Amino acid sequence: MTNNEWQEIVRKDIHRHTSIGCKISNLDENLQHEVCEVICLKCLHRWIAVYPTETLLKNLECQCGQVGYVIKTGQTIFDEVE
Ligand SMILES: [Zn+2]
Repeated sequence: MTNNEWQEIVRKDIHRHTSIGCKISNLDENLQHEVCEVICLKCLHRWIAVYPTETLLKNLECQCGQVGYVIKTGQTIFDEVE
């Protein structure tokens, strides 16, 4: 499964919830994922991150290639799907 396909599934999954900030979603039966907006303190790039709940933020990699600069913004994730 490509990353884009995965993101699309996550977006649909978000659609099923009324979301406030970060959330836990069950994409698969045994795989809990966290969905929240994060920002890279190195390049200030923001994006909606989706990662397994056991993943540490400090281990997330930004598009700029830096690891360890990602923090949660606390932004409420609104429902953007029709
Ligand atoms: Zn970055």
